[in-house]
Amino acid sequence: MYPTKTPHQFTVVPSLPAELSALKRIAYNLWWCWEPDAIRLFQRLDSELWRQSRHNPVELLGTLQQASLDSLKADEGLLSHLSQVEIKLKEYLSGPTWFEKAGAPGMRIAYFSMEFGIHESLPLYSGGLGILAGDHLKSASDLGLPLCGVGLLYRQGYFRQYLNREGWQQEFYPENDFYNLPLHQERDQAGQPVSVSVEIAGRPVKARVWRVQVGRVPLYLLDTNLEDNLPEDRDITLRLYGGDQDMRIRQEIVLAIGGIRALQALDLEPNICHMNEGHAAFLTLERIRQLMEKDQLRFHEAVEAVRGGNIFTTHTPVQAGIDHFPQELLERYLGSYYRGLGLTRESFMALGIPHQGRAGGSFCMAILAMKLAGHTNGVSQLHGEVSRKMWADVWPDLPEEQLPLSSITNGVHDRSWLSDEMADLLIRYLGTRWIEDPTSPALWRRISRIPDEELWRTHRRGRVELVEYARDRLREQLRREESSARELIEAGEVLDPEILTIGFARRFATYKRGTLLLHDKERLTAILNHPQRPVQIVFAGKAHPADHQGKELIRQIVQLSREERFRRRIVFLEDYDMSVARHLVQGVDLWLNTPLRPQEASGTSGMKVAFNGGLNASILDGWWCEGYRGNNGWSIGHGEVYDDLEYQNEVESRAIYDLLEKEIVPLFYERAVDGVPRGWTARMKASMQTLCPEFSTSRMVREYTERCYTPAFQHWEQLNRDGKKLAVELARWKERLHGKWGDLRIESIETAVHREVAAGDRVPINVKLVTGEIPITEIAVEVYFGVLDSRGSIMGGEIVPLSLLPAGKEEEPVRQFGGELECRFCGRHGFMLRVMPRHPTLGTVYDPGLVLWG
Ligand SMILES: *Cc1c(COP(=O)(O)O)cnc(C)c1O
Repeated sequence: MYPTKTPHQFTVVPSLPAELSALKRIAYNLWWCWEPDAIRLFQRLDSELWRQSRHNPVELLGTLQQASLDSLKADEGLLSHLSQVEIKLKEYLSGPTWFEKAGAPGMRIAYFSMEFGIHESLPLYSGGLGILAGDHLKSASDLGLPLCGVGLLYRQGYFRQYLNREGWQQEFYPENDFYNLPLHQERDQAGQPVSVSVEIAGRPVKARVWRVQVGRVPLYLLDTNLEDNLPEDRDITLRLYGGDQDMRIRQEIVLAIGGIRALQALDLEPNICHMNEGHAAFLTLERIRQLMEKDQLRFHEAVEAVRGGNIFTTHTPVQAGIDHFPQELLERYLGSYYRGLGLTRESFMALGIPHQGRAGGSFCMAILAMKLAGHTNGVSQLHGEVSRKMWADVWPDLPEEQLPLSSITNGVHDRSWLSDEMADLLIRYLGTRWIEDPTSPALWRRISRIPDEELWRTHRRGRVELVEYARDRLREQLRREESSARELIEAGEVLDPEILTIGFARRFATYKRGTLLLHDKERLTAILNHPQRPVQIVFAGKAHPADHQGKELIRQIVQLSREERFRRRIVFLEDYDMSVARHLVQGVDLWLNTPLRPQEASGTSGMKVAFNGGLNASILDGWWCEGYRGNNGWSIGHGEVYDDLEYQNEVESRAIYDLLEKEIVPLFYERAVDGVPRGWTARMKASMQTLCPEFSTSRMVREYTERCYTPAFQHWEQLNRDGKKLAVELARWKERLHGKWGDLRIESIETAVHREVAAGDRVPINVKLVTGEIPITEIAVEVYFGVLDSRGSIMGGEIVPLSLLPAGKEEEPVRQFGGELECRFCGRHGFMLRVMPRHPTLGTVYDPGLVLWG
């Protein structure tokens, strides 16, 4: 134990008069952050403190002076507002839910993520991955899913950004004051704080377990900042994505292995574990280890018991975005752990490299997750396709379309991103049903009933607020820099609340091409400063502290925004967070998205914009390939990919200028006599009608439930019933088959395919097979059959099972199988024969090495 001089500690909690005690209950459930009435309640307590606390109600309640509490408790209007909000919260928590009707009893889902973006006052996120995780929890709560989140409680979270005079990003790391956050310390029955221990590099590291309540859903957060730990171990939960690979692997061990142990300590053993990105992939090993210990299973038996209950979502096709660890690092941190699982170094390392991968290659967390999950998905259709190509060698003997890797397109939690004004407008014309179920297209068609002027006026309010907000932020920035009075006055003149406003905000990763729009400065100047039809752009975003190139992009934009010709038309807002994001997505007319296809796996900001009536102009990448319908926004190019990046940038930046000059700007400024741009509002309506029903996390979480959680749970139950009988039996059966599979031989394949077959014809096929010692009932003989693509591989093929024919004159062990291929489509067809194991209960089973192709 290292010596410390620890001061005696005590905690001061807000002491609220009884009349106001409900405020605390509301403040400690993040449900408030998507309930406008609750937000207004906190705001009315003290709007200045509310702003200063970064919209943190726990801190706000703690800083209210006794005098103001006394006057507040005598304010009848406030008390009635408070009681309304409390009733709403109670109703929310106890009301009937979608899952009660749609879900399976007994299911318990744990959702693991390195970051969670729930609200700006709880800074445990960096960007899209975290926001998605936060929105996932919120919708899981709305739908009543039996789900909990698992993450890390960072003492400093992700960095905050400010820009120096030259426009370089500077980072600072304010401490999160846990006692001013909506945290509950989890305690056991004896009242002692719950903690877990994991072994890291040979020594135990303790982590405490906290809970944040997100509506109905608990989010458990682990924190290693305990006196019992060595200083370097206390810092494991210091920062999100800070530190080197050593730090990263230690964080991932705490998140995954510690996370599973925390759930166990809380008596909440999940049957479904959902890994949001590969950071938590070690959880697969811990689930296996626990079963081995508890039920005396061997490694492979435990694998069969848990794999079906693991789900993995991959979020990027960019290799640099995926964790790869050198094998020495794994050896150092997990050496004794894997030996405890009965694995050799070789068999352990093989879990993190492709089947034909180099034995010494780096260990990939995404591969570990895929090998030990029953189902993997990408986050848009295009990303699914790209991922199947990217990861094909994880399943070496399956055709691309048959990999257990599908896609579920991302969404956003609409209520968290909608402006109050737009939400009110929707309630007036659509009723309130969309709040519970935003997935019905028929409901959103009622958008057509909103008068154009009203929709336009509502959207304008958002723009006006964005402009005011941007001016305030800019002034604050300048005050900090001790700028001159003139500069402060100028800050009040940037942007114009009445002109076409473009938003561009995201992580400044180079593939997102933040400066594509600045490619041709002369042309840009002419567009922005057009005398009758001016345009302005609001930028925001952070670059990872180690990403010099990203920082350079930010600097270029900031420099440009200081040139006289752009000073009033381009603004870069510091410190992009959920609050800045809300102002942006609620206020912009156009959201610009310029990733290098196909590197934007999904993208979600454009969805937030769509709910607020803004329009999208985007490269056809990620979600926009599914969202774009011709009349509901714009596509930049047609999804072309060129080999020459310079050329691609050139072509696509020109396409943006063309679009702006010829279509977007004229449409925005073509006004009817009442000042409303009818062509533009028609697009706004088309955009909301087509995009809102599809791109919410309500739709997304339903899809996860129906396509992943429920089947995974059924599969898991089947294998774990009766003391995991089937799982054990399956593992042993596979082992036996591996021993005999080499005996299998295809003698002959006969078909009556002449060169041409008419569409609709059935082609008989007959196969002779030597099965050796494998019982005939334990194999599935199938034809993989379909239309060929230009490279001669089968596309979108179907599986045609062949059946055993009565024994002919051949002697055993030659057996005959037959069937018919139905040629429904014209074109060049191909077929391949394959033999797979067939299990008496589970049917055709895939296992690497147990597929024979002919
Ligand atoms: C929505 C959001 C993101 C994610 O944006 P993408 O478009 O998915 O890249 C990142 N940061 C913040 C603060 C957000 O609100």
